[in-house]
Amino acid sequence: MTKTFFLDDSWLLTDALTSEYRLGLVLLSYLTACLAAYAAWGLSDQYRQESGRSRHWVWLVGGGFAMGCGIWAMHFIGMLAYSLPMTVTYDLTITLLSMLPAVIASSLAIYINSRRTVSLRNMALASVFFGIGIGTMHYIGMAAMQLDATMLYDKVLFVLSIVAAVMLSYIALKMKFLTENTLSGRYYLRFKVTSILIMGAAITGMHYMGMAAVYFFPNSESQNLGPGIDPVLLSSLVMIATGLVLTLAIVVTRSNQEIRRANESLYFSRERLRQAIDTISDGFVLYDAEDRLVMANQVFRDMYPEMSEMIRPGLEYETFVKTLASHLKDKDSDQINYFRQRLDWHRHPNDTFHEQLHDGRQVFGRERRADTGDVVGVWTDISVLKQTERKLEESRSQMQALLRATPTPIVVRALSDRKVLYLNNTARKYAEQQNIDLRPGQIKTALDTEALSQLEQTLFENGEIMNQEVSLYTLDNQIRTLVYSAAMITYDYQRSILYSFVDITERKELEEKLRELAHTDSLTGLHNRRFFTDQSKRAIALALRNHDPLTMMMLDIDHFKRINDNFGHDAGDKAIQAMADICRDCVRQVDIIGRMGGEEFGIVFPGKPLEELEPVAERLRQRTEGHQLIIDGNPIEFTISLGLAQLRLEGDSLEEVMKRADVALYKAKEAGRNRVINAEN
Ligand code: GH3
Ligand code: MG
Ligand code: MG
Repeated sequence: MTKTFFLDDSWLLTDALTSEYRLGLVLLSYLTACLAAYAAWGLSDQYRQESGRSRHWVWLVGGGFAMGCGIWAMHFIGMLAYSLPMTVTYDLTITLLSMLPAVIASSLAIYINSRRTVSLRNMALASVFFGIGIGTMHYIGMAAMQLDATMLYDKVLFVLSIVAAVMLSYIALKMKFLTENTLSGRYYLRFKVTSILIMGAAITGMHYMGMAAVYFFPNSESQNLGPGIDPVLLSSLVMIATGLVLTLAIVVTRSNQEIRRANESLYFSRERLRQAIDTISDGFVLYDAEDRLVMANQVFRDMYPEMSEMIRPGLEYETFVKTLASHLKDKDSDQINYFRQRLDWHRHPNDTFHEQLHDGRQVFGRERRADTGDVVGVWTDISVLKQTERKLEESRSQMQALLRATPTPIVVRALSDRKVLYLNNTARKYAEQQNIDLRPGQIKTALDTEALSQLEQTLFENGEIMNQEVSLYTLDNQIRTLVYSAAMITYDYQRSILYSFVDITERKELEEKLRELAHTDSLTGLHNRRFFTDQSKRAIALALRNHDPLTMMMLDIDHFKRINDNFGHDAGDKAIQAMADICRDCVRQVDIIGRMGGEEFGIVFPGKPLEELEPVAERLRQRTEGHQLIIDGNPIEFTISLGLAQLRLEGDSLEEVMKRADVALYKAKEAGRNRVINAEN
């Protein structure tokens, strides 16, 4: 065993053993180092992803182990590539022990670098640990060599080998972070590969520099080397270690791909969510459990332009509200009030928070605390809604005023139960005047129920009712006639009937009176000439159609002029009235009596043949003759002459039959008056 470690002038380099490298194994050693770096990279990613979860340290240990194993395997493959003209064996314990510093240094480096951002200091520290770790592994590994020679190192190359390891690993780490934080897609892969290749170079570079620093000087006398493992066994160990690294690398590749995919989809769904939140028309704001702003969309920012500088992740809710309050133009006390109210609401957000923005817009906010403790706030601009509401209220009050002022009674009833929902003043007054029970809430109706259901059917079929005549029953059992119009409307969110009406009871009575007046002779109350003619024509038409007999009678007071002359015009009128009464007395209900003019009367007897009427005419004549009228104490008597004519069923007209009756009447006058003449004779 040698006591010195470094070369000194006492050694002649020409005495040193010559060595050779097997190129294939050299390349394999580099490949192994790269494989280790690749596995370590992936495992450190995994470790970072899993951080916070249980057993995430498994990845740290795995990463350290893979890297350590890889470095170790690289070293011994490098040793197998190195051939000396002398038998070399390895001390098993030291060989295995040499793996330890590599694993520890790798774990440490991975641990330091497991954060997403790493300070330069930490990165340098990790590189130093790593470089020293590789170096330690290498030189312990070298110490495991057993051969019949003295092993000495060149000082400069020895130091350089470690410095190179530190520097190369620094570059590799730097590249790794650069890659992760800034690159994506194609470049990511290129940088990753480069970074791994550099890391591989750091490991192998250190080894081969270390090898360049070593010199073996054959011992002058043979030494007892002790039991050691031969290169075949070493190869097996190396192969096992490489296999382990390879397996880990494969596992890592698989799970890294998954992480990447998951990350990508997470990124996309987060990005999608962010874009979606930005496109909604409401202001959106999210605070974390500590009441710090996490995010706010553009709509929310636009609501508080005076705060745009402040609205940033991390902004505290209280600060936000305090600044907001300080921007209020109101008095200090109002600012404090606003601050308190808004904070109160934020702590117990059961209701909505209304406020007017600086630009005049009305907004209201809702806040909900999620199970995670986050607070989600949604702010809605309700200016348009408010405006519409105002307009609606305006037109509603206009409508109400219109309904109140209109002189027509208007009532609104619910369609479902006929409950009165509204009635205007006119309707109320009408109900009072006519004694009808019509009040809001009233369900009963004053209309006849049968008529009502018919009205409703019309309403359903046509959607409206226009000017329908209906009867209404008052509380004191009077019947009123209404002209009724109705339409379907929505009132207070329910299907309703709006109806208006005009009471035409009086008008109808007046019309009836006027109609009668138009038909009646005012002095006698009999039909006047025109109405008599109308009615007679109808009776004649009916008689002709049915082949029923009909007889016409004309009668005239004899020497009427004398009554006028002797007793005055009024007496004459009285005589005419008395004559009308006598006529009425002597005929049936169906017979038609008319005053033809002056003191001349006509009577139509439907269904009566002429011969049946002769006795009637005679009775009339006798009754008149026997009638005494007392006027102003003067007894007045008079007689009548009568003419009869029968309708000719083969074809006849009122004019003709009347003319024939007239002719008969004149014949009676000519024949000496006070008699009946039959036109057929
Ligand atoms: P005769 O027997 O031929 O019928 O004789 P007379 O006097 O009745 O003659 P005439 O029929 O020509 O006379 C009708 C008179 O009746 C003429 C008119 O002054 C009078 N007179 C017509 N209308 C009225 C009336 O409404 N009231 C009164 N008081 N007199 C009337
Ligand atoms: Mg006369
Ligand atoms: Mg006359």
